Amino acid sequence: MENDICLGCLATNKTLKNNYCLKCIKELFNGIVPNPLNFDRVEFTKKRAELSPRMSISGVQDKISLTFEKKDLVPTAINGKYILKPISSGDGHIQNEKDVVANEHLSMLISKNIFNIPTASCGLIQFSDGELAYITKRFDYDDISGLKYDQEDFAGIIGVTPSSHGENYKYDACSYLDCVRIIKKYVASSVVSVEDFFKRIILNYLICNGDAHLKNFSLFSKVNSNEYFLTPNYDLLNTRFHVNEKYGDMALELLDGYTATYEKYGYYTYDDFKTFAKYIDLPDVRFNKIMKFIEESYPKVEELIDKSFLSESAKKFYKSSYQERMKRIKF
Ligand SMILES: [Zn+2]
Repeated sequence: MENDICLGCLATNKTLKNNYCLKCIKELFNGIVPNPLNFDRVEFTKKRAELSPRMSISGVQDKISLTFEKKDLVPTAINGKYILKPISSGDGHIQNEKDVVANEHLSMLISKNIFNIPTASCGLIQFSDGELAYITKRFDYDDISGLKYDQEDFAGIIGVTPSSHGENYKYDACSYLDCVRIIKKYVASSVVSVEDFFKRIILNYLICNGDAHLKNFSLFSKVNSNEYFLTPNYDLLNTRFHVNEKYGDMALELLDGYTATYEKYGYYTYDDFKTFAKYIDLPDVRFNKIMKFIEESYPKVEELIDKSFLSESAKKFYKSSYQERMKRIKF
């Protein structure tokens, strides 16, 4: 199957090799033009079961590590440089599960190519039968030396666990404001990182990602350095499309308490983000610029949604939920 759309960046006007543009081949696959996977989703499930006792990737979603063998990406138990996530095999746990893969891909591209937030390289890749899966390159390895970075998620940095803060520790232990306190404490270039973090939080709100919890933010230090940075953005998804129960607006509370506006409406609005910006010392001029950018960039978001591999109903939902959140944070 030959598409005229790049499965990495969704560009439609570029020369493609095996479904990827040159930029994506370079960025996502380190210059190797990958073959479609030589296994399908049924075989994936089998391989995952074989490999999982030794897998180091945590989380509940079905995924396996892949590594290049010549031009083939093959499952591996050790030193995998890629993570593959197919649509889930359908145990009725989530709704609209066939859209999960395209949803994550789209959400990551909005972060990377529209919001210009450092974001893990990712794309779609075909199984042997043509079905698409989500693939992302691990960012905790140095591309050139292959050495692993020193990385820790925010739950680990704060030292919260199920035994210290209960089963929901990833959500309950602290607020996004506390996360900024961590960034200010550990990240040397914290002015840049704090603004980056602000953009991530507001993006999560716009795309209705209710799962940006403490383990989905991490700091890492490059090889031979003890300076810490925020890792690229990862695990982004419009969770509202897939989860029935009424989630909160965001995975963590934004502030230590609630603003008067939140008390009145019961959801986050312009006032809350303005207050958040004030507490994290984001200058007014930067805050205003980001809010204006959100307004002005919407046509690009809509264009990307239209190009994505989401079903028509998912596209409609993604657009309307995004617009609804934009309205909430409008001044
Ligand atoms: Zn591309």
